[in-house]
Amino acid sequence: MNHPGEPVHPALYALAEDGTLDLLYLACGACGALTFPSSAYGCRCCGAAAEAGHTQRLAGRARVRQMVTVHQALTPALAAPYVVAELELAGGVLEEAVLDVRHEGDLAPGMPVRAVPAIMPDGRFTCRFAPLEDAA
Ligand SMILES: [Zn+2]
Repeated sequence: MNHPGEPVHPALYALAEDGTLDLLYLACGACGALTFPSSAYGCRCCGAAAEAGHTQRLAGRARVRQMVTVHQALTPALAAPYVVAELELAGGVLEEAVLDVRHEGDLAPGMPVRAVPAIMPDGRFTCRFAPLEDAA
């Protein structure tokens, strides 16, 4: 079985049973709002300390708000060009992420995407977002 290794960022995502990724949020102990990632210092809504909340694991569903193609390689692990999008995660959390598409034209504002693992050269996996199949 071709099972991915360890996550590069274990506070951000975890492998789901269906082979996609779940995202790890901080659920506020005071107001209940979600903050991403689970390692945040505190609630983005009311400022309550992270210790008052708990980690909440949710399916890695998101919605594209806007996207841009990056033509300069910022890290050796990521060959340019690649597509970055601002995504709306659970609870209205906004996060920039790398998309598993070849062209930004493959995306459109409002398009649903899901988190999937991408295997790194060292065998660990990182998080990418891919469009949800229309048939799903
Ligand atoms: Zn809060």
